[in-house]
Amino acid sequence: MDAKNFSIPILDRIFIEALFVIGVNLVLFTVFAHYDTLEWVYHFSRAHEDWELDEIVPIFFTLSVSLLVFSVRRWLETRALLAEVSQLSIRDSLTGLFNKQYIMNEFAKEDQRFKRSQIKYSVVLVDIDNFKTINERFGEKAGDVVIRQFTSIFMSLLRVNDVVARWSGEEFIILCPDTELTGASKLAEKLKTAILDFDFDSVGNITASFGVTMASVKDEFNETINRADICLYKAKQRGKNCIVAV
Ligand code: GH3
Ligand code: MG
Ligand code: MG
Repeated sequence: MDAKNFSIPILDRIFIEALFVIGVNLVLFTVFAHYDTLEWVYHFSRAHEDWELDEIVPIFFTLSVSLLVFSVRRWLETRALLAEVSQLSIRDSLTGLFNKQYIMNEFAKEDQRFKRSQIKYSVVLVDIDNFKTINERFGEKAGDVVIRQFTSIFMSLLRVNDVVARWSGEEFIILCPDTELTGASKLAEKLKTAILDFDFDSVGNITASFGVTMASVKDEFNETINRADICLYKAKQRGKNCIVAV
């Protein structure tokens, strides 16, 4: 199907196709009426009674019903496929978390809400410490398991309104709507403790560093994310396994 078709709303598409079907049928009706086609078919089948041409009529009926069933089944399949594709386009395949593109859109929306109604939001950036060493010592597959288990810790501790995404390899970002810096710092503290306490299969204990910041009216949302990134960088410089919040 042409991708451009999706830019036309579904009701408009149905309307256009209905018009097309009506148009085609009107043309066919005019042609049939003009040439008296069925009259001719009737006489032809009467003239060739031994060919049993009249038995074709019920076949047209069953064929129409079969085509209808076929179309509905394909339509249902396409709908399910589209739902799957739209999920795949916003999710990261390893963790099932949202991807960067999705959360950037969420940030843009949250930032607009903040500037309209002063509902503050905060950002938490999390990066697993020494992940390269984990990969080197235990292998990439074990590294992947760590990333998945890391994700499960997030999912168990975040609030329903929080949005978490895989930002890059072993780095995650959390958008905390309606949350001030102290609330976001508390969340980071909770995550840090949960990560420390978690026994990662075959790898044992790991740590993570955090950069936390709150949106400010004078900043665009990407400047807020940059500030969180600078905080994360400082946390790494301070020896890792810690939180820097500004
Ligand atoms: P730091 O404590 O400073 O964050 O160091 P680090 O080793 O965690 O970070 P660095 O950026 O040096 O290395 C990150 C590594 O993560 C390198 C990359 O190969 C690995 N990585 C990225 N994505 C994946 C993934 O999906 N699976 C696995 N197993 N490894 C990944
Ligand atoms: Mg790291
Ligand atoms: Mg990193």
